[in-house]
Amino acid sequence: MRQYIQFTHSDTEAGGILVGRENISDSNLIIEHISTPLPNDIRTRCRYIRKDEGHIDFYNQLYRDTNGIYAYVGEWHTHPEDVPRYSIIDLKNWKRIAKEHPMDKQYHFIIGRQQIAIWEMNKKQIKPILIGMVDWNEKFLQENSSEC
Ligand SMILES: [Zn+2]
Repeated sequence: MRQYIQFTHSDTEAGGILVGRENISDSNLIIEHISTPLPNDIRTRCRYIRKDEGHIDFYNQLYRDTNGIYAYVGEWHTHPEDVPRYSIIDLKNWKRIAKEHPMDKQYHFIIGRQQIAIWEMNKKQIKPILIGMVDWNEKFLQENSSEC
């Protein structure tokens, strides 16, 4: 994800899916694989739409190769802002995924320039629950305003 941070003014949003597994002994969720932008995705300065079917192929391949250990966990995408906040379009999209997805919970990462924010969504929830903000812990561009 780090390599897709939108540092410069021409960098477009990027994204993909999160794939992981639950650790039975402590019920921690471990995200071990992510898909990254593919040619048929739509990527603009302030928008990422995961269109390419390769993301699903990527997941199906992992599922097959590991006898179903891995599950779809959620989505990630970048934002051209330091501290990421979800947009109305993100919220709509996350609600749609929550409704369609068989699993109770999904997690959504937005990758900002200074922080990663992680939200949990579930079928009963109207609003995403912020479960963590993680600092990239490096000094990046000093731009504080969001462009979108
Ligand atoms: Zn977004």
